[in-house]
Amino acid sequence: VTGPDYDVVIVGSGFAGSLIGSKLAAAGLRLAIVEAGLADEDERDHRRALREAFAGSAAGEIFAPYSGLLSNDGNEPARRHYVHDDQGNDRFGGEYLGLAGGSGRAWLGTALRLCPSDFRLRTLYGQGRDWPIAYRDLEPWYCRAESELGVAGSPEVDLELAAKRTSPYPMAPLPQSFSDQVVARAVDGMTFDDQPVVVAPTPQARNSLDGYDGRQVCEGYASCVPLCPVGAKYDPLVHLRRALLSGADLFTGTVAISLSSGPDRRITGLKVRKPDGLTVELRARLFVVAANGIQSPMLLLRSRDQSAAGVANCSGQVGRNLMDHPEKHSCAILPQPVFGHRGPQSTSGIETLRDGAFRRRRGAFRTALRNDGWRVVNRAPYGDPTGTLPQHGTVLDLIRSKGLFGAQLKAALQSLGPRQFALQSMVEMLPDPENRVTLSLETGLFDLQQPRIHFSLGDYARQGIQAAAQFHARVFHKLGSGDGETHIHLTSDPCAQDAAGSHLMGTTVMGDDPSTSVVDSHCCAHDHPNLMIVGSSVFPTGAAANPTLTISALALRAAEHVLQRLPML
Ligand SMILES: Cc1cc2nc3c(=O)[nH]c(=O)nc-3n(C[C@H](O)[C@H](O)[C@H](O)COP(=O)(O)OP(=O)(O)OC[C@H]3O[C@@H](n4cnc5c(N)ncnc54)[C@H](O)[C@@H]3O)c2cc1C
Ligand code: SF4
Repeated sequence: VTGPDYDVVIVGSGFAGSLIGSKLAAAGLRLAIVEAGLADEDERDHRRALREAFAGSAAGEIFAPYSGLLSNDGNEPARRHYVHDDQGNDRFGGEYLGLAGGSGRAWLGTALRLCPSDFRLRTLYGQGRDWPIAYRDLEPWYCRAESELGVAGSPEVDLELAAKRTSPYPMAPLPQSFSDQVVARAVDGMTFDDQPVVVAPTPQARNSLDGYDGRQVCEGYASCVPLCPVGAKYDPLVHLRRALLSGADLFTGTVAISLSSGPDRRITGLKVRKPDGLTVELRARLFVVAANGIQSPMLLLRSRDQSAAGVANCSGQVGRNLMDHPEKHSCAILPQPVFGHRGPQSTSGIETLRDGAFRRRRGAFRTALRNDGWRVVNRAPYGDPTGTLPQHGTVLDLIRSKGLFGAQLKAALQSLGPRQFALQSMVEMLPDPENRVTLSLETGLFDLQQPRIHFSLGDYARQGIQAAAQFHARVFHKLGSGDGETHIHLTSDPCAQDAAGSHLMGTTVMGDDPSTSVVDSHCCAHDHPNLMIVGSSVFPTGAAANPTLTISALALRAAEHVLQRLPML
């Protein structure tokens, strides 16, 4: 009889998998990370390949530089890998990358904490669920996560929301852009739904200090999504490399197919398909599933050797409560030039509207002040060749609709481009057990069964989206933008989202009660003694903050728990 191959096997090398992996490998555990996506053996080659793919890509979508790198299915963005039960603007559009490092390879870097109220939505506002932990339980782990990722920020963002800090941000905030300062002056003294409107520097995982953790200072190229050309923005390869340097094995191009379990409920192995097509089983004392809010529940649901409901699913909650942050985007031509595209794509936001009594009736939202013209909204300056997005103010509009060319075109571009400005609000939605991921019969990304998605935003989020649109209109009014030059609704429905947030939350919910939740407060599966699930799939509610700093804090906390618990397994 031989022992297990590893102490711990982790599925997924995104933020969650790489952070937990780096800590466990550093503690000397025998560790394997199974990653369906492809790796980049050499950083310089990788960056060269990205540049070439970006320059040669005809696609104007956010993953353009990576699209050729999505494994198995070639150029298809992840959103086309869903089978949808629903149509229309409400439908689920969250995306993710199948690469070593996960979606963190393309993230923007916004690194916000949740605020204390976010953990107690049911108690305070009678909505959604409470978390089984409080802000104070996670606060020390937020500090560690900010240090590990290298977050530049200012404490006012947290203090505005009563989120006390025990350590300062590791780096001073990035400079606020010129347009941030214009907006801050315009909204000074404004309130919305009884909350003050305050523009504050956004905490972000990019270096404001040259050399922090060996990375260089942000040079302001404004191409953070999809990639930072100089590595000033944190991405999960930082911790993946550390895990490998500490001795972890990384299996790339290797797809986790299913978990096997014994009658005693212990997970006994992970079946994986190797790049050569062979299926083998990895054995370990502990298994950590970190494959994101779509693929983590899919793996559990595929694992049916002991129960048709899958692994970790005695509660029936695996795959349910799917949440995202629906986004409202609005753009305006301002009377004065604000000269976007200098610095990161967003350097300030309005966080004060993330909490308030209004959460009894509608979703909260945070508003990012975009620093990249109308790029997010209608692919300005070029425009959308499909004609489905608003054309106003784009090159296509000026040529096609207004018939400008030569000196006139140049003058119009010089006038409009620097005056383009956009607001982007991400809205809170509630967990709904009927919003769910199940297994479809069709094959998709990684040659696995495609996720079948049943999803609807619900009235709470739709009212939040409408409030965000009203808020945008008021801010534009303060900025002196004329109505005819402002596009509030990119869709005909004022309560519909303009974009999905790609924040994949809720599908392996955390709670104290095994009959209504999948994992406990340390991300351990209720139903199996040696299974953990990490990532935003464990979030009971999504609040109105980008999720990744919380994913990271929970992963670091889970790593410490593993180190305490593993000797007993
Ligand atoms: C364009 C964009 C911008 C974003 N910007 C921000 C931001 O500014 N701030 C923020 O907080 N969040 C942002 N996000 C969200 C953020 O990227 C995610 O929250 C984060 O990447 C999730 O990390 P994760 O480790 O849980 O999952 P992922 O990053 O999805 O990693 C999961 C990994 O598991 C692998 N995997 C999946 N299934 C299998 C399988 N069966 N076998 C083996 N491997 C598997 C995947 O290939 C992937 O590498 C952004 C997302 C996008 C798309
Ligand atoms: S602004 Fe430029 S240098 Fe700074 S993080 Fe973004 S892409 Fe990197």
